[in-house]
Amino acid sequence: MKKILLALVCLAVWHAHAQTVPSPEQFLGYKPGTRFTPEYKVLNYFKAVAQARPDMVKTASYGETYEGRELMLAYVASPANLPNLEAIRTNNLRMAGVLKDQPATDNKTIIVWLSYNVHGNEPSSSEAAMQTLYALAGNDSQQTKQWLQNTVVIMDPCVNPDGHDRYVNWYNSVVGAQFNADPQAREHDEPWPGGRSNHYNFDLNRDWAWQTQLETQQRVKKYNEWLPQVHVDYHEQGYNQPYYFAPAAEPFHEVITPWQREFQVMIGKNNAKYFDNNGWLYFTKERFDLFYPSYGDTYPLYSGAIGMTFEQGGIRAGLGVKKEDDDTLTLVKRVAHHYTTGLSTIETAAANAPRLLQEYRQFFTNSGNAKDAPYKTYVLTSNDINQLKSVARLLDLNGISYGALNTKTFSGYNYFTGKEEAYKGDAYTLAVSALQPRSTLLRVLFEPKSTLSDSITYDITAWSLPYAYNIKSYAVKEKLDMGSFTSTAVTPVTSGYGVLIPYTSVASAQVMSYLINKKVKLRFAQKDFTYKGKDYASGTLIVLNGGNDDDWNKLVNEACAKYNLQPVAVESGFMDKGADFGSPDIHFIPAPKVLMLTGEQVSSLGAGEVWSFFEQTLHYPITLANTERLQRLDLSNYTVIILPDGNYRSLGDKAIEDKLKNFVRDGGKLIAIEDAVNSLADNNWGIKEKEEDEKDGKKDTSAYQALKKYGSRQRDEMPEEIPGAIYKVNLDNTHPLAFGYSDTYYTLKQSSHMYQFLKDGWNVGVIKKDSHVAGFVGSKLKQRLKDGLTFGVQDMGRGTIVYLVDNPLFRHFWEGGKLLFTNAVFLAGE
Ligand SMILES: [Zn+2]
Repeated sequence: MKKILLALVCLAVWHAHAQTVPSPEQFLGYKPGTRFTPEYKVLNYFKAVAQARPDMVKTASYGETYEGRELMLAYVASPANLPNLEAIRTNNLRMAGVLKDQPATDNKTIIVWLSYNVHGNEPSSSEAAMQTLYALAGNDSQQTKQWLQNTVVIMDPCVNPDGHDRYVNWYNSVVGAQFNADPQAREHDEPWPGGRSNHYNFDLNRDWAWQTQLETQQRVKKYNEWLPQVHVDYHEQGYNQPYYFAPAAEPFHEVITPWQREFQVMIGKNNAKYFDNNGWLYFTKERFDLFYPSYGDTYPLYSGAIGMTFEQGGIRAGLGVKKEDDDTLTLVKRVAHHYTTGLSTIETAAANAPRLLQEYRQFFTNSGNAKDAPYKTYVLTSNDINQLKSVARLLDLNGISYGALNTKTFSGYNYFTGKEEAYKGDAYTLAVSALQPRSTLLRVLFEPKSTLSDSITYDITAWSLPYAYNIKSYAVKEKLDMGSFTSTAVTPVTSGYGVLIPYTSVASAQVMSYLINKKVKLRFAQKDFTYKGKDYASGTLIVLNGGNDDDWNKLVNEACAKYNLQPVAVESGFMDKGADFGSPDIHFIPAPKVLMLTGEQVSSLGAGEVWSFFEQTLHYPITLANTERLQRLDLSNYTVIILPDGNYRSLGDKAIEDKLKNFVRDGGKLIAIEDAVNSLADNNWGIKEKEEDEKDGKKDTSAYQALKKYGSRQRDEMPEEIPGAIYKVNLDNTHPLAFGYSDTYYTLKQSSHMYQFLKDGWNVGVIKKDSHVAGFVGSKLKQRLKDGLTFGVQDMGRGTIVYLVDNPLFRHFWEGGKLLFTNAVFLAGE
């Protein structure tokens, strides 16, 4: 009797308890999908559920966005598992071999991680997240309780809060009392830059491995503390598209295991069951491939999980829009689809937990043994410790350990020559062993050339870090002996005359920017010189006592300590060799006053890369103004105007053209990047595209050429495609645009535009013949991409135009280009 009573009491408590969990509708005051919910309210709902079910749900903030919005994770588990989250987490890391304090126990619990709304204007998944949480913790579904017995679900309700709210606040401000399903209504026409990206217009679904953005840095840190078995990244695509879920499309990267492929199919089939029951359309195996390592599906895959992208049709759909097939797609339907795949994924994962765990262990065992990996050690070498430190930082962010070589004798594949060679010593080495748990990711990031199983892909096809960082590197087949990697310490210097600062990496750019901000007068050397028997390269920064305020020496030491650069004291302006400091070859660096064009004609991503580089890397002021207002802007306030990637229709306007040309003639500098160069080429600025005939060489004139197959039309376009491949650029490093570089640079080529060498200007970076290094280039285009300009400088009147045909700041992971961009702003033309 007592027992029965106790059971009854427990049941009553349980019910009282469960009833206090609000449904999303009760909490929000509207049915999910009938309005867009701001991010803070989505999080508040999660917190309310955690408060009502503290035995099943725990929320924890993991940081803030650039605009100060909260980033939060929710952990959902059975009442038995929730108190043991930390033990489950550490045991999981032990299974992966990442945590080595003790052997893993025979764990039966898997971790499923659901990431919602990485693209802010694809917001239906954040609404679905609330319903998913309610299904797991809110009602008394025996089914979900069953799943949670062996599954911990980690939910990130909104990966990109700034983008989410940019879209949602805008939409709510333009929608009427009822939504308008007419696709032409303004509520389906989101203004620039759109809510897809984060504050700095970065695509967070391209940033997982590089972690250049605050949101990614904080999230991936958490992700790597858990290393789940399953990860889903929620998206939306064009609203006429049906739902997309796993299995993904080719190409798959070759490191993806048969089990990772197999489980994608299992997930897909289970999703399909529910979609078929409801008559909802979907597609699989098309469009979304698994190759580029910085996505929300590939990064988890290369980190031992089953990583997947799920895509609902819905971008620009608002609360409802009429589709091509005359159906109205509502947010309510979009939410229902994402909700369904969320639960279906947890169901499949829970049902296959033992196999998931076994394969997970196997993945990390193979990864740790570098099974099938062609190389056992990667070695980067440089005379500049800061170059190596930038790579070390990236490895730290990705949980990859590294050291410095104990030996100076080894042979390996030299990335820069493409040959097996014996190492010739530089001052510093950074060595990474492939015998470590995160070796699969390491291999993908470092492999000289990635094997493509199919040429049709969604993103760039080459990213190998030695090229992206422009650092001499070797891939070595043997395990090499290494000790710890340590940075050099910087010693402050004092001088009554002046100081030299080396100019070799982004750290130099940061020191220069720091000092110019503090009104310290800087000069740079046009040519190499020798002082007291030591050689200094062109570009070396010179700070002199004469003309500077009293605190200049202190500020130099401050800047050099902050960015880890060793300054050198000089006591005289008389050089052993080369120009003395009073020579016309020593140039003063005026503080640039920088304007960048933004708005509808400009690529938001391209503009964001420049904006963020100034604010987050150089910490240097920049003014952003919309291209549409160019005619009314007073340009006399600026000395540098940057045109990021874009299609500048305004340049076709004679008045605008004259205004910009006068700005340059009067001594201004115009920097054009990527397609902005094309806009200049179209409007008689002096740079010219190569003629079609010149490009093609000999044309195929056969009449049969016209007989192409309809069914292979997508593939027929491939000969002209370049999704992003690495090319070798020959640099004229006697020009200030290439100071700090050797005579080669590796560029990421994404455009098929080829420009003629400048007849009246400096061809500082050119592509010659056979310059392709890695990545896919269509067969026809490959023949054409040669003997053309990549980086050029042209004088006009008293001013300068800088052409950057390829983007040196691409996604900010192209570290090797950052100094070149800095040169364009600060040194070129001075
Ligand atoms: Zn997306």
